[in-house]
Parts: sequence; C-alpha cells; structure tokens
Amino acid sequence: MCPSDYENDELIFIDEDELVEHVEETIEGAWHVLVVDDDEEIHSVTRLALSDLILNGRKLAFHHAYSGAQALNYLKEYGSSIAIILLDVVMETDDAGLQVAKKLRDELKLDEPRIILRTGQPGYAPEENVIKEYDINDYKTKTELTRSKLVTTIISSIRSYQQILTINQSRKGLQKVIRSSANLQEEQSVSGFCTGVLAQISAILNRPVSGLVASRAASVFDLDDDGLYVLGATESFSEASGKPLNVLQKPAISSLIDQSLRDKSHTFASEHCVFFMGRSGYDASIFVELDSPLDTTQEQLLEVFLSSVSVGYENVNLFHQLRNAAFRDWLTKLPNRTQFIKMLDGVHWNSSNRAIDIVALIDVSHFSDINDGLGQEAGNHLLIAVAERLVQWFGAEAQISRIGADVFGVIGNSETLSVERINDVFLSPFKAGDHTLPINVYIGLCHLLEKNSGLNILKQTNIALNRAKKSLTNNYEFYAPEMEEKTTWRLDMIRRLRGDFADRKLEVWYQPQVDLLTEKVVGVEALLRWPTGDGQYISPAVFVPLAEYSGLIIDIGAWVLEEACGKLRELDNLGVGDIRLSVNISMPQFRDSKFLDLVLSTIKQFEIPKGRLELEITESIVMDEPQIVVEALRELKDNGVQVAIDDFGTGFSSMSYLQQLPLDRLKVDRAFVNEIELGHSAFIAETIITLGQKLGLKTIAEGVEKREQASYMLNIGCDEAQGFLYAKPMPYNELVAFLKQ
Ligand code: C2E
Ligand code: CA
Ligand code: CA
Repeated sequence: MCPSDYENDELIFIDEDELVEHVEETIEGAWHVLVVDDDEEIHSVTRLALSDLILNGRKLAFHHAYSGAQALNYLKEYGSSIAIILLDVVMETDDAGLQVAKKLRDELKLDEPRIILRTGQPGYAPEENVIKEYDINDYKTKTELTRSKLVTTIISSIRSYQQILTINQSRKGLQKVIRSSANLQEEQSVSGFCTGVLAQISAILNRPVSGLVASRAASVFDLDDDGLYVLGATESFSEASGKPLNVLQKPAISSLIDQSLRDKSHTFASEHCVFFMGRSGYDASIFVELDSPLDTTQEQLLEVFLSSVSVGYENVNLFHQLRNAAFRDWLTKLPNRTQFIKMLDGVHWNSSNRAIDIVALIDVSHFSDINDGLGQEAGNHLLIAVAERLVQWFGAEAQISRIGADVFGVIGNSETLSVERINDVFLSPFKAGDHTLPINVYIGLCHLLEKNSGLNILKQTNIALNRAKKSLTNNYEFYAPEMEEKTTWRLDMIRRLRGDFADRKLEVWYQPQVDLLTEKVVGVEALLRWPTGDGQYISPAVFVPLAEYSGLIIDIGAWVLEEACGKLRELDNLGVGDIRLSVNISMPQFRDSKFLDLVLSTIKQFEIPKGRLELEITESIVMDEPQIVVEALRELKDNGVQVAIDDFGTGFSSMSYLQQLPLDRLKVDRAFVNEIELGHSAFIAETIITLGQKLGLKTIAEGVEKREQASYMLNIGCDEAQGFLYAKPMPYNELVAFLKQ
C-alpha cells in the first residue's frame, strides 16, 4: 500500500525500533489494538494515524502480527485484553483473516474483542453471514482507511467493546450473585449466615472487604431492648460479633446502620456503603468499608444479591426461632428440658475443684390442684413467680431450667444448692395473680460424682425426686445407685412379663379351700404362676405388684378370670365337686370402668351358677372410693358374685364402714394364723373371727400349715381354711385328680 492512498499527509516517518511487538503492552488503562497485516507499511500507517487518539481518557496501545498464524498465537495469550483487532483478510492464504476471526470466536471463545476487517481489493465484501457469525464490527477496503474514517471506526468499535465488556461483567457478576446466594442457603445459624453474606460481597466485588451485619436483634438474642447488635462481622470487626454494636465505639457506623434500618434503604458513599436487607420483619443492615467507590454495575449487582439473600435471612431467622423454641420454655423464658440435658452434658468432670457438683429437681406439690382450682392463668403466674424467685436466689451461681409442667431443674454447687437453702426459697408465699399462695415442694438431688450423660443424670435425679414424693419423713431425697438398680430391674421385669403374657406363658394354678369341720373341699383359689422356663416360677408376690404398677394387671386379671371360670365350668361338667372359685382382683382392675361388665359377661359366658364365683379384694380397695365401691359390690352381689376381703387385718378398715358393705367373707391373713402356737392364744386371729361373726360374715384362715393351727381356728369359730396342710396350689390337671380322690 502506498502512503499516497491516504487522504491527508499525516504520514510521519516511523522509527524502525517502534515496530517491536508489544512495546506498549504494559500501558495500563489503554485500549489494546491488535493490527494484523502481512504488509508492514499498514502497521506503521495505522499507528501513526491513531497515535494521538484518546478515548474515555485512555490512549491506544498497539500490538502487531504479520500473519494469521502469528495473530492467533498472540490472541491465545493476550486475546482477553484486546479491544480491537484490525484484521487483513488475505495474508498467507486467501481467507487467513477470516480464519483468525472464526478461531477467535469459536475456539478461543473470545467474544469481547471487536474486529475490523480490512481487504486489499475494493469491492470485495465478506458474506453477510460471515459478518454475523464472527461478530465483525466493520469492514473497510484498505483504500478507505483514511485517518478520519479509521478514527470513526475505532471510536464506534471501542464503544461497542465497552458495552460488551459491561454486559459480560455484570453477567459474570450475576453468576457470582447466584452462586453466592446458593452457598448461603445451607447456612443455618444467623451469625454464620451474616459472615457468609460479607464473604460473598467480597467475592462479588472481587476485593477483600471489611464490614459487619447488624440489626435490632431482640428476636435473635432473645432480649427485650431495641439496641443494635452485630450479627456477623469480617475479621476487622470481629470483636463486636454477637455483641452490641456500640462496643465498637464507632458512632458513625452506628448512626449509618440506624438510618438504614429506619429508612429501609441502601447508601452508597465513596468510603463506605450500607445495604438494607429485610423481609417479613427480619431486618438487618450491612456496613461495608470501601477503599474506592463502587461503580454502577457493582452497586446494581449488590442490590440484586441482597434482595435474593433476604429470603435466606428470613429463613435463617425462622430456623433460629425454631431452635429457640426447642430449647426454651415459652412461659418462664428459662431453658427447657432439652436445654437442661444439654447443660448437664456440658458439665466438666475432670477439674478437681469443681464449681458444679450437684443437680436438684424441684417439684411444686399439688400444682394441678392450684391449676384446676384457681385457673390456668393463676397457675401460669405461679410458675413464673417460682421461676423468678429461683433466679433471684440462685441465678448468679446456678443454672435454672423448667423441665416439666411444675418441675424446675437447678445445676450448681452443693454448698449454695443445699436442701436447706432450697427449702428457704419456698418459705414465703408466692404471688399468683390476685392470690398469694404458700407452696410446698419435693426435692430430688443428685451429686455429680462420676462422668455421666445429661439424660442419665436427669433420670437419676428424677428417681430421687420420686422417692422424695413417697417419703413420709422428708420432702427431699438424694439419688443413690441402689434406687436405680431397682428401677431398671423393675422395667426389665415388666417388659418380660408383658412379652410372656402375650406369648400365653402365664398359668393359673389352684389351691383348694376346705371346710374346717368336715375338711371337705369347698372351693379353690386361682393363683397366677409365671414360669421362667427352667422349671422355676417367679412369685406372684413379686410380679403382681409390677403388673399393677404398669397397668398390665387389667389384661392379665381379665384373662385369669376367664381362664379360671372356664375351668370351673369344666369341673362342673366333669361332676367333680360343687365348689366355689376365688379370683384375686387388684385395685387397677376394680377401678377399671369395664370391670363390672367383664365379670358379668364372664359368668354368663361360662354359665357360672350364683354363689360359685368369689372375688378377693383387699382392704385398700374397699377403702379407696367408698361410693363407687359400695355400688359395685351391690351390683356384684345382685348377680350372685360373692366378695371376700383378702389379707384381712393388715389394712386400716374402719369398722362402721365395713358394716355397710355387702361382703361375704373375711380371709384371716396368714401372718395371724402363723402366730398360733400350741398353748398360746392368738389374739388378732381371735378378734378377726369375732368381728366376722358380728358382721355376719363367713371367715377363712389362710396359710394353715399345721394341725394345731387348724384346730385352734376351728375352736375359735372359723369356718374354712386354706393352706399347705391341705394342699399347695397346683395346676388344673392335678386339681382334677385331687378332687376325684
Ligand atoms: P394371696 O391372695 O394372699 O394368696 C395366698 C398366697 O399364700 C399364695 O401365694 C399361696 O400360694 C400362699 N399360701 C397358701 N397356703 C400357704 C401356706 O400354708 N403357707 C404359706 N407359706 N403360703 C401359703 P402366691 O400364690 O405366691 O400368691 C401371692 C399373692 O399374689 C397372692 O396373695 C395374691 O395377692 C397375688 N396373686 C396371685 N394370683 C393373683 C391373681 O390372679 N390376681 C391378682 N390380682 N393377684 C394375685
Ligand atoms: Ca387371695
Ligand atoms: Ca391372702
């Protein structure tokens, strides 16, 4: 190409040295232009034509390649910083320039550099699809490239380059925003979330930032003030994390955050920015320190980011509140049972001089009466008052929780948490609404002696508390391992009993009862047997109380009644003896609303004649709830069912009361029969027989083992007897044989 082709004479002599590639490569903030042409002259002409050009405050920096291959090599390395490529089409091949464009876009995936094609031949224009496909900005024949035309083309290309750059940057920024928000979704603690937000802001801005997130965090910290709290902070502000914002002693930051929370607005300044993040009342503001102002794209990106993480902020707050609910008692605001167990889990066991060495459970006695009698609101007030008093007395030295409706747990030092001091707390009455209530408490205590889990400690202290409630002398009890052994043993037995009963392994045996005078069998008592599988039996004296305690006796008792009545029917069918069947009934059975129906339907089912079934109940049942008992007994009597008082003499029956009851028989307890010795009088046995006679009741002596006992009882007027002297309890088959003799 000839210099005369140029419109004006700006062609200046070019120093050969300046043709060295990349000379200006290091120019910062320049627009980088790559000139690709196999004609050296074009390079120098271009440089000269554009050397003074300054666009948006930036000069041009030129880079040179002399073939398509060379251009591609260069672009591979530096392509991403090139703004414009002035590209000759025909070089080593006819379409070498087009190949460069194609590879730049398709292979190097560089879509930012603008391409200006230059062709040697006038009239040659690349196909339109090539222009589109390779995103070519402009094409010019070399003859057209006068300085002013070149400048115009460069200016418009730089402009479009800049736009593309911005779009791409914000697209990348948006991708970061999306990724950042996604990263934060998994964070579940408020402080973790807030620190995460700050980290993501620094990622989006591509520079380290210092900042903090603050809010009126009464909800987060469970406080009642509306001061500002730091929820999360970067390294430089970390001292304030989780604390009131004013510990930073930077009133400027405090007032910026205060303002932003009030206006629900962002602020951008040259040295800082403040973002508001809020949703559904969960508001927070983010303060970020800046070393240089943000550009508009960055501001917009952060706004997008924060509006999308607001959702996350709401979620993390909700999580927090759920957790709070899980660990706090809503009424007294004290830690709840779950938290109490965690606190016990956190006890240090190793240090020698331990500050924490005791746990106490304090149970407000008869709380349910107060609740029922004065209303739930008064009950709640009382609990709050108790909580407050406990905090007032022990709050400084001990950890206090509400672990059950009316049970408080305290962890502390055995000197401060002495029984005396705890009792002192409850000496003066409590205000509950309009009422002033004196209350009593039971206290279960447990020394923290050896390493144990929180749950176990709680269980042990609870065992002590239950003991305290049963104690006749004290309102407190200290846990001792023996207590627990018994409990575990009991639970294990109950579990096994339930299983064996379900597996139909229980048996009913029968012990004959005789007429003392004729010594003929007049009845049998049905007695439960629990075989252990190795020919041994667990005594009903051991397992019946467990069955009663667990409620299992209702089902087991129903089965005994049915089983025994079935056998009585069989005996009748066999024609062996016209005998009476006695069945033991426990308190829970008698209290069960279906009990009467069960008895009546059973005698009907097995066609038990009147007077042939007798129920043995204890004095404690009789004394339980007089009205219900009287009615039930009357109903039984009306249906021909007899009732005997078992173990008579061991309870506390009142004479006048017994007189009113429709009873049939008194069973003299074995203990009194046992007192009978030759030549001595048995005072109690005698009294009971006399009493029975006065009440018009039949009497039967239990546990008669010796002849002299039998004759003594006969002498004092006892009607019947049961005991090893006559027969031991036996399985049904043996009973049949026994009766046939
Ligand atoms: P209980 O009702 O006082 O039953 C009499 C107990 O005295 C039986 O003990 C019987 O084997 C025992 N016995 C009978 N004669 C003699 C004797 O001459 N000497 C001695 N030393 N003992 C004698 P067992 O069978 O071990 O029953 C113990 C307790 O278990 C019963 O006392 C009763 O309270 C309860 N029980 C047994 N079966 C049932 C049942 O089906 N239902 C309910 N609710 N309780 C039952
Ligand atoms: Ca009995
Ligand atoms: Ca008895």
